[in-house]
Amino acid sequence: MSVDTKMWGKETFWGLGFEYDPQWLFTPEQKRIQSDLIEAACTSMRANAIESDKQYLFPRKNFETLAKLGLLGLFVPKELGGLGQNHTAAVMVVETIARYACPSTAMCLTMHYGAVASLLLRHHHNDFIKDILCRLDKETLVGTLSYSDPETGGHFWYPISSGAEKVDGGWKVRKKAAWTTSAGFADWYVIQTTSPDFNGDYANLSCFVVTDKEVIARPGGWDGMGLRGNQSGTLEVDNITIAQDRLVGPVGDGARSNDETVDPFFLALSSACWNGISLGMIDMAKAHVTKKKHADVGMRVCDYPTIQDYFGEAIMDTSTSRSLDYFMAQTLDKLTNNCDWSIHDDIQTLPRSTVLHWLWMVKFSAAKNVANVSDKMLHACGGSAFKEGLGMARLLRDAKAGWVMGPSNEILRQFVGKSSLLGFDSLDYWNKSINTRALNNETKKMSKEEKIQFAEQLLSEARA
Ligand SMILES: Cc1cc2nc3c(=O)[nH]c(=O)nc-3n(C[C@H](O)[C@H](O)[C@H](O)COP(=O)(O)OP(=O)(O)OC[C@H]3O[C@@H](n4cnc5c(N)ncnc54)[C@H](O)[C@@H]3O)c2cc1C
Repeated sequence: MSVDTKMWGKETFWGLGFEYDPQWLFTPEQKRIQSDLIEAACTSMRANAIESDKQYLFPRKNFETLAKLGLLGLFVPKELGGLGQNHTAAVMVVETIARYACPSTAMCLTMHYGAVASLLLRHHHNDFIKDILCRLDKETLVGTLSYSDPETGGHFWYPISSGAEKVDGGWKVRKKAAWTTSAGFADWYVIQTTSPDFNGDYANLSCFVVTDKEVIARPGGWDGMGLRGNQSGTLEVDNITIAQDRLVGPVGDGARSNDETVDPFFLALSSACWNGISLGMIDMAKAHVTKKKHADVGMRVCDYPTIQDYFGEAIMDTSTSRSLDYFMAQTLDKLTNNCDWSIHDDIQTLPRSTVLHWLWMVKFSAAKNVANVSDKMLHACGGSAFKEGLGMARLLRDAKAGWVMGPSNEILRQFVGKSSLLGFDSLDYWNKSINTRALNNETKKMSKEEKIQFAEQLLSEARA
């Protein structure tokens, strides 16, 4: 098979070559971006990743490199100063960074892209938003998403501790977030709260954009076992008053924004990060097993069929996971006229939302695969990989975030299983529908006296 040789500086790359990359999916422009990224990884970004991991450093230096390449505005339309690229390019960029450079940078960029997408969805009539979008690369403006609430764990669509009200000239907003990637290091934040006209319905959500000066973060507090540069600390917005144009889209647009941008981008791109880590583990393991020799039998570790089988399975499983991610990225490209943001001038145009459940499967597969592949590649390299020096221990720790990051794989498995059996309404994100089966089953167990007591309690609650 004739494919280009993958280079690492002046040398041939020491991991898997392009023969196991789906290069045919990319345009010449996308291949140029990929090649620039591999070059930047070799020159500085990979070394910065090691520093970030050792010292819990936010990867600002890597973001400066990405901004120089124009990648903070990768899919921002050209008329707003971006590269006008599509979903396929975004998946490729995040995967390439996680694989060759730095998984923490890849995850911070994932959250940045999710935040950029949520702004692009509603930028059409908002000059404040357009101004941020125009300056992303010129000023290295890093954005992020602050959603997860301390009271509701991984149910990040349920912001109990947050709210907003209409005041003269704008909004008064409060937010408490348990986790926010890049907290205290980002320049702008998209936050979700209940809507200013909230009346107890948690499906009524709104999004706001706030700046670094308007948030309270505690960056020194981050101590994750992996993705240490990711800095996913707590965040607070303490009843600040912000102008009218900080509202992203109309009041009550939160659920639409989640389903059309935040979730699709997070799911496709975090999966690209997990696939990139899987590939990074395979690359590192290849470099080790092809060098290490056993003098007694005169063989290298890679000469054992057992080890070859580990690689065969890891590459095939990772290719399956990557294929699903790229398939969905191409599907999103098709659905949106190649990531054309002008289609959303009509507020009801929400094509990505129609395939959200397919993106749940993408994230589940990639997070499950990276847990397995990182484990197996460690096994293939033996005790040497258990030590920090080889670099695989760092990636193994990074990989652990895949399964637990919201929506966690337990939640996704449940969403797909339940919706396939009982329909999408049964998912009941905002805990609104009554499970009459369970209710009837429990009351059936009550004695006559218990039923009377229960009924009286309900009556007094209803009349209160
Ligand atoms: C590295 C990292 C970066 C992050 N960055 C961000 C960010 O930028 N922005 C942001 O908003 N959040 C972020 N998060 C938070 C993330 O999205 C989740 O909110 C968080 O991981 C949930 O952790 P928890 O301890 O509250 O889990 P819990 O929600 O308490 O979950 C505990 C266990 O219960 C399971 N579980 C929970 N609910 C259900 C259910 N309905 N059905 C079945 N099982 C369930 C979980 O799967 C898990 O096994 C980040 C998390 C990590 C690890």
